[in-house]
Amino acid sequence: MSSSIQSNLETILTTISGYECTLVAVSKTKPNELILEAYDAGQRDFGENKVQDLVAKAEVLPKDIKWHMIGHLQRNKVKYIVPFVHLIHGVDSEKLLKEINKQASKIDQVINCLLQVHIASEDSKFGFSEDELNELLVSGRLNEYAHVSIKGLMGMATFTQNMEQVGEEFARLKKVYDQYDMQTLSMGMSGDYLLALEKGSNMIRVGTAIFGKRNL
Ligand SMILES: *Cc1c(COP(=O)(O)O)cnc(C)c1O
Repeated sequence: MSSSIQSNLETILTTISGYECTLVAVSKTKPNELILEAYDAGQRDFGENKVQDLVAKAEVLPKDIKWHMIGHLQRNKVKYIVPFVHLIHGVDSEKLLKEINKQASKIDQVINCLLQVHIASEDSKFGFSEDELNELLVSGRLNEYAHVSIKGLMGMATFTQNMEQVGEEFARLKKVYDQYDMQTLSMGMSGDYLLALEKGSNMIRVGTAIFGKRNL
């Protein structure tokens, strides 16, 4: 028997099959039964945006799931998440990076992180400006954070129907990404993942198109 989640996944995997990319299934607000449906279809990367939810799910769901923290992360919650998280997407300040490094060192781990870059025209979205990012990356200060491994960049486009604007924002982030030796460029969601892939993304974060609308 195949559920709608499984057929949604199949459709997306077919659509993106020409691209080298990781699909992160964004399971925020969704119950464990639905996550297991996707898991049973072979999905292993899942994204959550709340620390409590990620920890609660990670504790009971299969241990080979890779948990992605995709939301804004508060420094006082970092300690709860480091034992469980595979990749933190939204590192948006050096203070947060410092705290991740501190908590990761306590449990003797290296935590994979993406630096979030502010590419949207709204100022509500978090992230480094391109100038701040360049300053940090060329400063050499990242070497001080031995328990953090910067894998790449993450960005969120403006919330708009104007796909030309969204495409330009993705292209700008790709250009920044190409200036550095990095592995992961996380951009693209349900409404724009194909456009993001065309612009050079290699990690997409898709919730609604897999699990349906969220009520919360
Ligand atoms: C919720 C969320 C997504 C997934 O959004 P959908 O439109 O449901 O695919 C992706 N990235 C981040 C950072 C999110 O918070």
